Amino acid sequence: QKIIIAIDGHSACGKSTLAKALAKELKYVYIDSGAMYRAVTLYAIENDWILDEGKEVDREPLIENLDNINISFNYNSTSGKSDTYLNGINIETEIREMPVARAVSAVSKIKEVREKLVEFQQKLGKNKGIVMDGRDIGTVVFPDAELKLWITANMEVRTARRYKELIEMGSHISVDEVKQNIEARDYEDSHRAESPLKRADDAIDIDNSYLSKEETLHEAVRLVNE
Ligand code: C5P
Repeated sequence: QKIIIAIDGHSACGKSTLAKALAKELKYVYIDSGAMYRAVTLYAIENDWILDEGKEVDREPLIENLDNINISFNYNSTSGKSDTYLNGINIETEIREMPVARAVSAVSKIKEVREKLVEFQQKLGKNKGIVMDGRDIGTVVFPDAELKLWITANMEVRTARRYKELIEMGSHISVDEVKQNIEARDYEDSHRAESPLKRADDAIDIDNSYLSKEETLHEAVRLVNE
């Protein structure tokens, strides 16, 4: 019997690494809800609706154009992973870069953006057999998910992992900038009025600061089979 697995936690805690590995192991579909907020953010950047270095959004035109934002995921046989598409264009690389990372929390605060994306996420969950990671999956998107995981890791580990990822992508960035972005997103994601980042009461905690990817996966699989 296939289930829905919700994986939530702060930025750069290893949610997506675990979610992808778990989906592969269980032959489930992995859905990256953060990529959707990042895609909407890229659309806003492309239209010059991001102000004050990512702190503010010109809300009105963005809200008016939400119906023109089409997000999809397509399997990439070269990387073996699924790529994010915005109106038919592959944006997987751009959405991981700093301009999007700096503005995404401000875009995610907008009620209309969340409504659109939550509806889309719930639609994708209709068939069960999915692992979805994000901030509000266990609380808002799938409050009835059969398994909810709350992932944590300490700040040093989170910064080091995200820094390595960005450098490997060819980014020119300092460790301090990465840390600041993670801290800023933690703050913004926790303090927004609309579905703030919150641990679901029935979530199970996994602190992966000192666990390898394999050990974290092993723990999650054990919980699925419990
Ligand atoms: O998971 P990721 O770091 O890619 O998410 C990017 C941003 O998207 C988060 O910092 C948060 O502002 C937003 N987000 C959200 N709700 C989700 C997933 C992501 O608000 N379910």
